[in-house]
Amino acid sequence: MRYFYDTEFLEDGRTIELISIGIVAEDGREYYAVNSDMPAELIRRDHWLLNNVWPHLPLRGYKSSLQYIGDGQHAVRTSDAGTLDTSSVLVKPRWVIANEVREFLLAEPDPELWADYGAYDHVALAQLWGKMIYLPKGLPMFTRDLQQKWHDLGRPELPVQTDGEHDALADARHLKACFEHLAGAA
Ligand SMILES: [Mg+2]
Repeated sequence: MRYFYDTEFLEDGRTIELISIGIVAEDGREYYAVNSDMPAELIRRDHWLLNNVWPHLPLRGYKSSLQYIGDGQHAVRTSDAGTLDTSSVLVKPRWVIANEVREFLLAEPDPELWADYGAYDHVALAQLWGKMIYLPKGLPMFTRDLQQKWHDLGRPELPVQTDGEHDALADARHLKACFEHLAGAA
C-alpha cells in the first residue's frame, strides 16, 4: 500500500519540529493531525510559517488583512495570529499522533512511503517515535521521493495545485495526484 504524505514543520538548521501531518493512502483513506506540542510561539515568530502554514491550522482569534506588496499587488497577511484551537479534534499531542500514524500506516501490508522533496518529511515522520531505531516494525526506513521519479521520467508537466498549498493534507492529496499522473505517463 502506498502512502502519500506531507508534513509542515519548523526547522532552524539543527532541529525539525512537527506542526502538522497529512497522509493519503493509495486506496483513498486519509489522516490529518496538528501537533498540540508544537512550539507555537516560535512558529508565530517565523514570518514565512506565519503567513503560509499557520493560517491553515485550526485557530482561535486569527485575523488577516490585505497588504500592499508593490507592483499594484496585494497579499493576504496575518494581522492577528491568534492561538491554536485546542477544542479541534484535529489538534492532538505528539504521542497520540505517533500512535495513530503507526496504526494508519500499518493497517495494510507492505507500506510504501512517498513525499515530495521528502528528506525533511521523512525525519519529521520518523521522529514521531523518537530515535531512528525506534521506527515501528514494518515501516520502511526510507521515503520515496516524487522529485526522483519526476526527474527519472524526464520532468514531464505535472498537475498544478489549485488550493491549500502548505496545508499538509492538501499537499498530500496533490502529491498523490502528481504520482498518479506520472504513473499514467510512464
Ligand atoms: Mg506541505
